[in-house]
Amino acid sequence: MSSPDLSDDERQAVRRVLETTHLSMGPQLEAFEQAFASYLGVPHAVGVNSGTSGLHLAVIAAGIGERDWVITTPFSFVASANCILYERAVPIFVDVLPETGNLNPGLVREAAADLARGGKSAQRWLPPSLRTQGGDAESRLKAILAVDVFGHPADLSSVLECARRHGIAVIEDACEALGSEHEGGKVGTLADVSVFAFYPNKQMTTGEGGMIVTGRSEWDAMFRSLRSQGRAASGAWLLHERLGYNYRLDEMSAALGLAQLRRIEELLARRRQVASWYNLRLADQELIEIPASTTTTTRMGWFVYMVRIRPPVRRDAVIQALAGAGIPSRCYFPPIHLQPFYASRFGYRRGDFPVAEALGDTSLALPFSGVMTEQQVELVCQHLTRIVGSAVVR
Ligand SMILES: *Cc1c(COP(=O)(O)O)cnc(C)c1O
Repeated sequence: MSSPDLSDDERQAVRRVLETTHLSMGPQLEAFEQAFASYLGVPHAVGVNSGTSGLHLAVIAAGIGERDWVITTPFSFVASANCILYERAVPIFVDVLPETGNLNPGLVREAAADLARGGKSAQRWLPPSLRTQGGDAESRLKAILAVDVFGHPADLSSVLECARRHGIAVIEDACEALGSEHEGGKVGTLADVSVFAFYPNKQMTTGEGGMIVTGRSEWDAMFRSLRSQGRAASGAWLLHERLGYNYRLDEMSAALGLAQLRRIEELLARRRQVASWYNLRLADQELIEIPASTTTTTRMGWFVYMVRIRPPVRRDAVIQALAGAGIPSRCYFPPIHLQPFYASRFGYRRGDFPVAEALGDTSLALPFSGVMTEQQVELVCQHLTRIVGSAVVR
């Protein structure tokens, strides 16, 4: 489905670390954090060992705790909701926009107003298994966690305006959107805290890894303590001020990240090129819908190349037929509320979030990376158009 885009610079950078004795908590991490902060133009960047770890720490910093409510999206990778559960809080799903798959700002406004009021009006937004007769008297609304799905920035201007009105925080899961811009503002500079991920299929990689960025210096200090066993800012090795974790990013990963970041414009340009090769070949296909562009996404950091398969063609049959031709493809995303764990814990059923479900039923991720050649894209498109045109997938 995807391959990392690595050069000799990256291999040398990792090898150089292995020639030292400093494999963790050293100069590479510090340099990577500084370079990342300056790339985005943000005051603080804190490296962690995965995007998921970063999201967990963002949830803690936002003061989200047991039974608190966080408005978020059901159309995402499961980590963006799991991080809320890690703190025993409640993800409040609202449905998404059909064009981008991102949170529907109108519904977010409606949900936030009802949830802020608490009591009866909040009930219909809660997960089915948590609804009660009289309702919680008090509002437990703490934050909005928006996800930039497939590289499209969420409508952060609307989300922020809504959050400010209710005095709650905005956490941005930007794990799929490095390099994207919303209304001219770089993803990572807009929310109270944003989290990026560097798994090998992302725009740049550290193997495993992530980065938290924020403008708040008190949160920066908290992230540094939390990622390293709750240690005090003084750095004293066996002084633990809070419940912490080991979410540190090691030096080999940081060196790889630093070398990738030096080539970030090249990495993004290659992905953009591959996406445009796909667009060119699939744009006039009646039964295939190519990725939407919006006026608010002023720059796209391509993460995956997603198409939608139109009826009467069956998406799952297309996946099977592509696999038969040796071409991997994937259904992104089966919505979170229908994942077995969420459905059984919270009582969700099909029909609860129809737009997210329709996207989950028709979306198809094609092979995509910055190292794909035009010939490879051509081959995928030839097979895809042949299959979609054949009777076996109706
Ligand atoms: C990749 C990703 C994450 C985090 O990924 P890690 O594998 O933990 O680095 C979180 N949210 C979304 C939407 C993602 O795509």
